Amino acid sequence: MSLRQHKIAVIAGDGIGIEVTAAALNVLKAVEARLGTFRLVFDEFDYGSARYKATGAYAPEGWLDHLATSDAILFGAVGDPDVPDHISLWELILPMRQRFQQYVNVRPSSVLPGIAPHATAAAVAGLNWVFVRENTEGEYSGQGGRTHVGSTLEVATDVAVFTRGGVERCMRYAFEVARSRERKLLTVVTKSNAQRYGLVLWDEVAASVAMDFPDVKWDKMLVDAMTVRMVQKPHSLDTIVATNLHGDILTDLAAALSGSIGIAHSSSLDPTRANPSMFEPVHGAAFDIMGRNIANPVAAMFSAAEMLRWIGEEEAAVLVERAATQSICGGQVTCDLGGKLSTVEVTRVVCQMVERL
Ligand code: ATP
Ligand code: MG
Repeated sequence: MSLRQHKIAVIAGDGIGIEVTAAALNVLKAVEARLGTFRLVFDEFDYGSARYKATGAYAPEGWLDHLATSDAILFGAVGDPDVPDHISLWELILPMRQRFQQYVNVRPSSVLPGIAPHATAAAVAGLNWVFVRENTEGEYSGQGGRTHVGSTLEVATDVAVFTRGGVERCMRYAFEVARSRERKLLTVVTKSNAQRYGLVLWDEVAASVAMDFPDVKWDKMLVDAMTVRMVQKPHSLDTIVATNLHGDILTDLAAALSGSIGIAHSSSLDPTRANPSMFEPVHGAAFDIMGRNIANPVAAMFSAAEMLRWIGEEEAAVLVERAATQSICGGQVTCDLGGKLSTVEVTRVVCQMVERL
């Protein structure tokens, strides 16, 4: 019998990205061995800040063409104290999102049993949200510029570009996610009172796409009021769709509310499946804790599970999620969640659970 085979591009990146990606790979190998129904072929790439500092480029020429041949991309994190953040964003991350038309970024956020969430514990216990963040345009369009640089007349502009097609495909995906979930509830976040063009377009597109989803209940929120609602009435929310910038900010808040950024994962998807999608933790390279074997590897493991689901290995995905969740429920966690285990120890626990479950 020939096994289903999947080619996975792995970009561990920098800092703790390297540690948590190694952990996720171990778990993937454990589930592959446990089930024996598919084979993962890993293609590892050294794109990242070390390469940038040595060669002046985050990745070699033709890198996007290499990645294009993979079935999915597993990503760690990039960033370096010596390199301004916008360079890795604009050289590595945004080109992938744009070239591979990963036009939605999906970030589930839930409070898992066994986790003591922050301050508002009682209010957020049991919450379970999914954020759909627009991932290819909006405030991160890269349009704009600077004139009269250095003089008192200097003007710097960032142009947020929203296209009807770009907003619509994201909105449609968000409605589909909402429809697939039990509560069938979608909140559309904008700032259309202050941003008169692009975000008014968002509101209009939301209203028109909603007509195709009569079974989904939806409402609109301004992003400022949304932060308050997330903290004060978290259970009134379920699926949330937001622009690139707003989605970025709100999902950090969601990660903090749900206990630790160390368990938050994210998928940059091309829902048409014409291009590889990318799976990564929400957190960055976190140089403050790098090399200390204390980074929480669970976000990277959840990313790997979501990747398995996307490539059609649902059974393996569920197994990895259950193993990682059980390690959390059992208190076998790193210090960000109040535990005593190291990155390597948590990984060993999760691999053992994958073998036993
Ligand atoms: P970036 O600039 O790429 O966002 P960063 O260095 O700002 O990266 P973040 O990843 O955003 O760091 O995380 C902020 C802080 O949260 C880190 O400094 C770290 O202390 C903590 N943190 C992040 N990820 C983890 C993790 N996986 N496990 C434990 N703590 C983490
Ligand atoms: Mg950060």
